[in-house]
Amino acid sequence: MPKIAVYPGSFDPITIGHMDIIKRVSHIFDQVIVLVANSSDKKYLFTAEERADIVRKAMNQMDVKNSEVCIHDGLTTEFMKSRKAQVIVRGLRAVADFEYEGTLANMNYRIAPEIETFMIFSRPEYYFISSRGVKELARNGGDVTGLIPDFLGPALIKKLAD
Ligand code: ADP
Repeated sequence: MPKIAVYPGSFDPITIGHMDIIKRVSHIFDQVIVLVANSSDKKYLFTAEERADIVRKAMNQMDVKNSEVCIHDGLTTEFMKSRKAQVIVRGLRAVADFEYEGTLANMNYRIAPEIETFMIFSRPEYYFISSRGVKELARNGGDVTGLIPDFLGPALIKKLAD
C-alpha cells in the first residue's frame, strides 16, 4: 500500500518554510497531499482557490513530483480516510508551536487512532518565518524577498492594497 502523507494548513500564503517541509516530506513518502484548509471560523487573506493555486505553482517550481494540492473544509482525518492516507505532517518552529501542535495531534489521535502525526522541525534558516509575519512585513512596506516564492511578491502586495 502506498504511504500517503497529508500536510494540512492555512497556507495564507505559502512561505519558504512550508516549501522546505513539503520538499523534505516528499522524499520520505510515496505521495504528499498538501491540504489547504477552508475553515469558516478563520479569516483568510487569500481565498482557498487562490491559496491552492499559489501552492501548486510553488510546488511546480520546486519540482516536487509525487504531490497534489486539495482544498478541504472539514476534519483532516475524514479527508484522510477518504484518500487512505496514513500520516499527518506538521511543522514545528517555536515553543508556542509545540503546545498547539501537541494538542492538535492528540485530538486527531482521539478521533482517528490509526492515523499518525509526524512532526518535522523547521530548519534554522526558516525558524522565524510565518505567513502572519510575512503579511505583517509586506503590509508595512518591508521586503519579503526570500521568505515567499518570488512570483508571489507582487500578488501579495496587490492583495494587501485591495
Ligand atoms: P495552520 O493555520 O494550520 O497553523 P499554517 O499554514 O500556518 O497553518 O501552518 C501549517 C503547518 O506548517 C503548521 O504545522 C506550522 O507549524 C507549519 N509551519 C509554518 N511555517 C513553518 C516554518 N517556517 N517552518 C516549519 N514549519 C512551518
